[in-house]
Amino acid sequence: MMEEQGLDSLQLSQGLAMSQDSFQQLWDTVATPSISTIPAAMTMDQETWRPDGQMDIMLINDHVLTDGFDENLFENLPPEMVTKDGVTPPASTVPVTTDYPGEYDFQLRFQKSGTAKSVTSTYSELLNKLYCQLAKTSPVEVLVSKEPPQGAVLRATAVYKKTEHVADVVRRCPHHQNEDAAEHRSHLIRVEGSQRAQYFEDPHTKRQSVTVPYEPPQLGSEMTTILLSFMCNSSCMGGMNRRPILTILTLETTEGLVLGRRCFEVRVCACPGRDRKTEEDNRTKMQNGTKQTKKRKSNPAPDTTSVKKSKSASSAEEEDKDVFVLHVRGRERYEMLKKINDGLELLDKESKTKSKVKQEVPVPSCGKRLLQRGERSDSD
Ligand SMILES: [Zn+2]
Repeated sequence: MMEEQGLDSLQLSQGLAMSQDSFQQLWDTVATPSISTIPAAMTMDQETWRPDGQMDIMLINDHVLTDGFDENLFENLPPEMVTKDGVTPPASTVPVTTDYPGEYDFQLRFQKSGTAKSVTSTYSELLNKLYCQLAKTSPVEVLVSKEPPQGAVLRATAVYKKTEHVADVVRRCPHHQNEDAAEHRSHLIRVEGSQRAQYFEDPHTKRQSVTVPYEPPQLGSEMTTILLSFMCNSSCMGGMNRRPILTILTLETTEGLVLGRRCFEVRVCACPGRDRKTEEDNRTKMQNGTKQTKKRKSNPAPDTTSVKKSKSASSAEEEDKDVFVLHVRGRERYEMLKKINDGLELLDKESKTKSKVKQEVPVPSCGKRLLQRGERSDSD
């Protein structure tokens, strides 16, 4: 939950009624600063490593210590951070994560798997987030409004969600890589069930992706299904290391021209059903909580005054005798506040003498309020 605070609180401050699309737009604005600005932000984060490979002891997160120190972390430093020649890579090395249906109205759909304990892959519409188990297949349905050009491919790329991690390349952790003999063993995302899946690593950015040729829906079907699997847990040390990721799915021409793009968050965990339910509940609670605070803020005056009034009415003689000391900076301000206090003291004195007089008169049945200076009593 800690990991999501940054974006979530940002999203909240931008208003809760945001749709997925506007969230993506927001994310885009968050995700697009040039990489040269990112290392500065990273030093503020608890989980990151300094570009020089030194660990800042004061900034270690608790779980890094409890999970044990992994020497491979040093080897896993993203190439962008190890700029030996001091050249800052251009911002275009950060993949775009805005949804773009394009002229083919490119859409994704996920099967409704629910949140049962046994479920190995489930998608949250509320959070636009896929929860799945390590190496288990997640079917993703691809829809287009018309046939894409001959040779079009679908490409899946993983990218870190948070600004401070977005410059890092998403790869499998050393542990899972080492126990795998496959040629593409360093790739987090795999496409299953296709002999035509191809694994790529950009020679400059080192970012990895997998493509599969777009196949038109089979007769009687409106969509094409691709099978994705994620080969590390989100918690894997030396890999994702608890950093949330997004999966970008693009429809591209053979030449690599993007025709459509869709993004969704992915969490790879042991209990997808449970985690989805927990995070959805948290989101709902958070939204309700904010609504309540907003309400309270919008009209606080009637509530507080009515409480004060009824209090003073029930104990007209029992005044607040507690004395508080207020430290004020600057004489001018002090004099101003003193004037206010003096005025209030004077008011108290006056109302006291008045209420003493008033007590000789029968209290009106409806007038539960203490009569205040300048106010006319109901019976007048
Ligand atoms: Zn792993």
